[in-house]
Amino acid sequence: MKKKASVAIALLAVLAVTSCSSAKDEPQVKNVIYLIGDGMGFGAVTSLLLAEDSVTGFEQAPVIGLNETCSANNYVTDSPAGGTALAAGVRTRNGYCGLDPEGNRLTTILHKAQAMGKKTGIVVNTTLTEATPAAFYAGVTSRGMTYEIAEQFTVSGVDVAIGSGLDHFISRPDSLDLTATLIDKGYDVYLNWSAVLNTPSDKFIGILPMADVHRQESGRKEAGAAAGHEVCLAARLASASEDAGASDLSEPTVYLQKASAKALETLSRDNDNGYFLMIESALIDGYGHNNDSEGMIAEMKEFDALLRQLVAYVDQHPETLLVVTADHETGGTWLNYTGYEVGGSSPVTMSYSTRGHSGVVVPIFAYGEGAEAFAGVMKNTDIPKKIEQLMK
Ligand SMILES: [Zn+2]
Repeated sequence: MKKKASVAIALLAVLAVTSCSSAKDEPQVKNVIYLIGDGMGFGAVTSLLLAEDSVTGFEQAPVIGLNETCSANNYVTDSPAGGTALAAGVRTRNGYCGLDPEGNRLTTILHKAQAMGKKTGIVVNTTLTEATPAAFYAGVTSRGMTYEIAEQFTVSGVDVAIGSGLDHFISRPDSLDLTATLIDKGYDVYLNWSAVLNTPSDKFIGILPMADVHRQESGRKEAGAAAGHEVCLAARLASASEDAGASDLSEPTVYLQKASAKALETLSRDNDNGYFLMIESALIDGYGHNNDSEGMIAEMKEFDALLRQLVAYVDQHPETLLVVTADHETGGTWLNYTGYEVGGSSPVTMSYSTRGHSGVVVPIFAYGEGAEAFAGVMKNTDIPKKIEQLMK
């Protein structure tokens, strides 16, 4: 009898140790940073690796996967459908953004993070209403519906967003001033870079002139700062505050790094539940469309500076997962034989097979807590599903 009891106790002890160790092994992902390089395929990454002598952020990522980027109706996705797959885990038809192929509104990983009590943020170096960020909070049948997208942004529930595209918020056919709507909902809204950098606010939207968020013109048509924007409420409030006159500060080459650091600082302040932050580097796509090797390399170096910064951040914040991928490849970017010598005076010059998107798989790089889940070959739709499973 005594012996049986001691065996039972020993068994219980084994079980306790086993369950303890499995709970300990399970990733504890409190914070998620989802970094999307629009159009960033293997060619773009190759151009960086060859042009950069020091160790890149990509080389520091211990986990690498492959992402099949098809949309519901095409091997080659556009940005709205590509963004929707990465945001909501559903493939939709090209053109649709945040909707399933039947036109139903989708719940995204950003919404799911909010439902878990996490703070959420969006940082982009394009308009806040562009297809990729819109896929996380809006539902429209066309990326061109920018006024509808801006209206849906006002109910996105994000705590922090920094990007461009003021036109869509104030120069509207319906004459609404959506900066006033946002202020009404408790946001601080800033229209200049120094105000964004200096704000102590826990809940703010930065809608900056395009020149502040773009390194240089990529040749794509983008909405700039609105003419006559002083009529909107955010501008009137700024002109009455101490930030007035500081709007000439512009740092487009380090914008994404600084905006991301500001968003992380804000989202993690007094926050036990964690956060979800989506960052998009949008212009890699533009250089791919333009078949501009020099521009692509410069853009990839800036992307890499951001990536290194985020890797260092995750090292300091252990419950954080960093996932890096692309919505699709752009340009059919390749490196054909040029005869140039490695390390010689001729620059790395990429080749291109299209001025559009291509359907080849794109890389996934993962770092930090739970990163192992992103090793292997997966569909674009698997990525947000895995993030959802990991978020605690
Ligand atoms: Zn594109």
